Amino acid sequence: MNCAMKTVTKCMKCSAALTRRKIVIGRGSIPAKILFIGEAPGRTEDLFGEPFVGRSGRLLESMLLKAGIVDKYYITNCLRCRPTDSADQNREPTGDEVLACMPNVLHMASRVHPEIVVFIGKVAESYYKKHFPITASILHPSFVLRKGGENSPWFEHNVSILRRVADAVNHTESLFTGSRWPVTVAHSDVHDVPEEISF
Ligand code: SF4
Repeated sequence: MNCAMKTVTKCMKCSAALTRRKIVIGRGSIPAKILFIGEAPGRTEDLFGEPFVGRSGRLLESMLLKAGIVDKYYITNCLRCRPTDSADQNREPTGDEVLACMPNVLHMASRVHPEIVVFIGKVAESYYKKHFPITASILHPSFVLRKGGENSPWFEHNVSILRRVADAVNHTESLFTGSRWPVTVAHSDVHDVPEEISF
């Protein structure tokens, strides 16, 4: 464990610190071509200290496998501690919490040094899009789970985006010339996503 990680394991900079069991930093390769940024640890992640190890994580793994992304990625979250409500249920991070944890995430991103950053869900996209030049966004797997999991059309929606990400990192030069790859891959590049969608 390096110095930065020692610092973060004692972090009390936001309210999520009060209810966490384990800090969830991330997992994967460093450096890596693809950096995934999710929302926050849930109950299972809080227990095991790893991101995306619960049902949502298993669904995400299925998407990645289907898209041909099996390694060369690192995955982390906007928050490293689990935010909970008064009934000990998972909740969406507040803006203050995301901003408090942002230096940790950006420090990790500098170590991972990705070619493309993929946001998992709207929280990561809304806070981090301006920080990275080449990005893509997928629907949060917990949303896809609620809509039917692998049987949901949103599963294939995410796989379509992830295939384009895989294709992009296999043609790195074009990522930077812009000759065949847009700088940002939006949901609307693959499907029409209704405005009212909750992901
Ligand atoms: S979520 Fe981030 S900022 Fe908040 S206590 Fe945990 S490590 Fe610190």
